[in-house]
Amino acid sequence: MQQATAHNTSRFAQPLREFFQPLVSHEGLSYYLEDLNPLWSLTDFRARVVQVINETHDTKTFVLKANHHWRGFSAGQNVGVNIEIDGVTHKRRYSMSCIQDSRRQFQITVKRVPQGRVSNWLHDHIQVGDVLNMTAVAGDFVLPPVLPQKLLMLAAGSGITPLMSQLQTLLANGYDGDIEFLHYVRSPVDHIFGARLKALAIKHSNLRVHWCEEDDGKGSAPERFSPEQIARRVPDYHERHGMLCGPTGFMAAVREHWEDEQLTGQLQFEYFGTPPIMRNAANGDIAVEVSLGRKARTIESAGNQSLLEAMESAGESPTYGCRMGICHECKCRKTAGVVRNVLTGELSTDGDENIQLCISVAESNVSLDY
Ligand SMILES: Cc1cc2nc3c(=O)[nH]c(=O)nc-3n(C[C@H](O)[C@H](O)[C@H](O)COP(=O)(O)OP(=O)(O)OC[C@H]3O[C@@H](n4cnc5c(N)ncnc54)[C@H](O)[C@@H]3O)c2cc1C
Repeated sequence: MQQATAHNTSRFAQPLREFFQPLVSHEGLSYYLEDLNPLWSLTDFRARVVQVINETHDTKTFVLKANHHWRGFSAGQNVGVNIEIDGVTHKRRYSMSCIQDSRRQFQITVKRVPQGRVSNWLHDHIQVGDVLNMTAVAGDFVLPPVLPQKLLMLAAGSGITPLMSQLQTLLANGYDGDIEFLHYVRSPVDHIFGARLKALAIKHSNLRVHWCEEDDGKGSAPERFSPEQIARRVPDYHERHGMLCGPTGFMAAVREHWEDEQLTGQLQFEYFGTPPIMRNAANGDIAVEVSLGRKARTIESAGNQSLLEAMESAGESPTYGCRMGICHECKCRKTAGVVRNVLTGELSTDGDENIQLCISVAESNVSLDY
């Protein structure tokens, strides 16, 4: 009897439920709200472009106003931008280039990369009023909790963005330590934030800004980073806490010199991509075995492959996001074996722990809970 009643009721209830279901479910309601205003998404982090600033001939700043999914950021962190081009979603990270504060407004500064899909698309298509799909703020390239009395900020090209955020945040909060800020650029037309940096250096006597140009347009010798160059510009550089960001070659040169001088402990750095994976000196080209526990199979990983690449080469499809060790979407449980973190160079223990497949290289046979 009860069943019959239920059945009778469902004759009317079912269509009504189908009609109202999209409104009462979280996703459904979000769908209708987003139709009214894309920023009203209940599920997705989005931001509206409120201003576009031409910084240089190839660099633009996008000032963004986030929806209520914004959780703030620390100076030096970055945010994900997901751009759909011809039906394919491309995910890129961009560092906040503005002062750290509690408002929902923030900015990213994007330099065109030759033939780059997203950077050029942002430059060519994004206008005031557009709404961007974002992914969460992340990154541990942040200022040390106890601020050192002497800072050295080394930026090259677009690597200036996280350092600019940190510099402005420090000065706005009354930091009275001494700051040497170096920006390595091709030529004077590449001075991203040039006017702002000049103004800050005039206002704050504890800040000195140096532009190191490959070609200053006056025929001077190119000024690239070298041990002699840094000693000439900043004679007490070895007494300073370093913050470093820029292209891979520049970062490698600075890091190598800091290693030679045994100063690595006082240098923080951020790559805008994964650094080239160096072969394991001990193993050379010898492949190691990676056992995939739940798949009950064992694959090979070459010395210059991340575990993510090794698994993909073997036909597996592990979940991944940024492929740069930021988003943690490729997190996986390692049950045995040693891996090297290609960002930090650190070796793991040989026990049970979570690793990120995209930045881990097997240094021994490894077992994964996959
Ligand atoms: C933590 C972090 C913070 C960052 N912050 C900033 C920032 O503040 N500002 C900024 O400008 N950038 C930043 N980046 C870099 C940014 O995320 C992008 O990598 C950059 O904008 C280039 O993206 P793209 O889509 O334009 O280039 P892509 O399309 O990814 O191309 C990159 C390079 O690969 C080459 N390439 C592409 N496809 C091919 C192919 N099929 N064959 C051969 N070569 C190819 C291109 O020529 C180009 O040189 C950051 C990156 C990270 C990881």
